[in-house]
Amino acid sequence: MEKLVNGARMTLTQGDITLQEVDAIVNAANSELLSGGGVCGAIHSAGGESIARECAEIRKEMGDCPTGFAVITGGGRLKARSVIHAVGPIWRGGKQYEDELLASAYRQSLMLARDFGISSIAFPSISTGIYGFPIQRAAGIALKTIRSFLADAPGPVSEVRMVLFSPEDLKVYQEALAEMD
Ligand code: ADP
Repeated sequence: MEKLVNGARMTLTQGDITLQEVDAIVNAANSELLSGGGVCGAIHSAGGESIARECAEIRKEMGDCPTGFAVITGGGRLKARSVIHAVGPIWRGGKQYEDELLASAYRQSLMLARDFGISSIAFPSISTGIYGFPIQRAAGIALKTIRSFLADAPGPVSEVRMVLFSPEDLKVYQEALAEMD
């Protein structure tokens, strides 16, 4: 499923983000920039140790990456040249600025991609696994944030792909995309 915005493509696909042939994949990272479970563990193990090394260097220089922000490393052994590590919010009931922080994690990732001359980027569903963000709500926020970035000032970014791990998650994102006017 796909939507054109300002000449750029927003696409939805089911699959494993570590296998995507794009310039950059996004990691649903934690503030410590450490490998853990979920998509983060999968990216670190597929990409190899250079990613953790670069993350450790960044953390030494700037400390923890705050929620809603993102940093970039190389892609190690991945097909993607770069990994953008975005820190989404932990769901705490919805009144702790979770919506804004999730939108920010997407926006900051896209701005980094633009600054680094990236033309294709793939996102997982940030925060909807271990961090517990309700996926319907997250899907609407993710897609609206991507659309508004592409409509405003996408620079070289010409494809933004959401990679959903399960058919059920894909369906949620497809419905959210279909509902967007
Ligand atoms: P968070 O801590 O931000 O919630 P998780 O890694 O727990 O991050 O989950 C984020 C989403 O990534 C979940 O929907 C999960 O099913 C999905 N996911 C896990 N592994 C992969 C993978 N290899 N490719 C794409 N998505 C994945």
